[in-house]
Amino acid sequence: MGSKGKFSCWDRVAACCCCCCKASQQAEQERQRSKDITIIQNQAVAPKLDSQVTQPSARPLPSPPGFVEGTRYVALFDYTARTADDLTFNTGDVLEVLDSSTGEWWIARAVTGISANTKGYIPANYVAPVESIDAEPWYFPDTKRQDAEKLLLAEGNAEGAFLVRNSESLKGELSLSVLHQGRVKHYKLQKQDGNYFVSKNKSFPTLKELVEYYSRQPDGLCVCLGEPCRKMEAPQTYGLSYNTVDQWEIDRKSLKLQKRLGAGQFGEVFEGVWNDTTPVAVKTLKAGTMDAAEFLGEAQLMKKLRHPKLIQLYAVCTLEEPIYIITELMKNGSLLEYLKKDKGATLRITHQIEMAAQVASGMAYLEQQNYIHRDLAARNVLVGENNVCKVADFGLARVFMKENENVYEAKEGSKFPVKWTAPEAIHDNKFSIKSDVWSFGILLYEIMTFGQMPYPNMSNMQAVTWISKGNRMSCPANCPKPLHNIMLDCWKEKEKERPTFETLQWQLEEYFEMDSSSYADSARY
Ligand code: ATP
Repeated sequence: MGSKGKFSCWDRVAACCCCCCKASQQAEQERQRSKDITIIQNQAVAPKLDSQVTQPSARPLPSPPGFVEGTRYVALFDYTARTADDLTFNTGDVLEVLDSSTGEWWIARAVTGISANTKGYIPANYVAPVESIDAEPWYFPDTKRQDAEKLLLAEGNAEGAFLVRNSESLKGELSLSVLHQGRVKHYKLQKQDGNYFVSKNKSFPTLKELVEYYSRQPDGLCVCLGEPCRKMEAPQTYGLSYNTVDQWEIDRKSLKLQKRLGAGQFGEVFEGVWNDTTPVAVKTLKAGTMDAAEFLGEAQLMKKLRHPKLIQLYAVCTLEEPIYIITELMKNGSLLEYLKKDKGATLRITHQIEMAAQVASGMAYLEQQNYIHRDLAARNVLVGENNVCKVADFGLARVFMKENENVYEAKEGSKFPVKWTAPEAIHDNKFSIKSDVWSFGILLYEIMTFGQMPYPNMSNMQAVTWISKGNRMSCPANCPKPLHNIMLDCWKEKEKERPTFETLQWQLEEYFEMDSSSYADSARY
């Protein structure tokens, strides 16, 4: 087909990329998220299942009141049972949901697959109603253009791999992203009179029919649609299992500590396994570092904070010393070690900015929740597969500081993260989300210098004095000027003049969009 017959790919920038729209959309998404969280928190405690119900020969479960039996769901990811009460299933298995009133863990009966005809708990975010758009393997609703490109260019996708996602800039609209000759092309999917189309002269009542049609012939697309894009990894479940959502003080005997991952000033961190099934990270706190009741109070807040860019707190063991904090395990450890080890060997500027944007995203969520981190630094960000970054240890500093006020004062300089802390927090103990923004500027410096100590060649005291005279760190080598400007904004003397994390997030995300040279590997139209 000649070029006339081809559709032009949709240019997102031309459509809308103004900062105000972006900021308000993100704010709306966050509001939506926080609404969801409120609902989750208010849900009733999941009923305890008889542990035998997952066994094929087990007696049937009594039906919980108030459910409509028979709603069929399809598994979007593989899941291996973590307790005797939940079901193992594989992507594509059909599950009949028997009770969805039980929170984030539903009671279901497997219709097909390895657990067929057994009942048990399933993580609700691993399934979608059969025949719904959410059940389609090519539907990646909350995927940004930039992430769609990353996903499609990842190993395992062949020519024609594709996904359909919600448009970032045009609310309610969809985009089709397709892999062609090592590049990703984006098409706008439009809807008129209830029909979907890429080109007005060929429309379809459902997206499924549209996808099926273009899977048979390109008809103007750059390539025939092939296999759906591979999903990177299953999402985090809400808590370790249905029964740790509310009862999250767990028996320490259910944990096996296997490998020491590292140590901080308050204790050691181990890679471990919970219930012989689930990999976790276990932070063991040195005896006497904090009061269990004080910690539990803070942890009640911490466990309600859920965001893809925050480390999830799964459970605690506080009944005896040492206190254990059980969290999700991150394969590549702390960002600081990750940066230092790499020193730019594989990480490029695009990765560095992307990692900073992820941290800003997690922090924007904390900002929206009126929560303060107090110890934001590269050592407190953890890295998973594919440079996924998550903010860790939020709120812990408050408990430590309260309990160790004397330690902090007496040993200022060794324990207190002076070089990361905003002047008003150092001088007046005034911690706020704006002092976190200051720390974020330092973290950005760490990212751009591959983990160099801030204010090199200065002692803590020298750095504090130097800053108080209005000095700020200069642009690191090989760091683009706009990024240094962001750092300088974070280090404004007046807290009010520092940006919000919401602004920092979109500035860093938009950085990719503006700098087309950084996208040389993927097509832009
Ligand atoms: P401090 O607590 O003194 O600020 P820190 O944050 O480096 O220092 P920890 O939080 O105790 O100390 O972590 C020590 C090390 O353990 C980290 O540097 C990291 O390598 C590893 N680690 C911590 N949590 C996890 C986790 N969830 N997954 C994988 N590795 C982890």
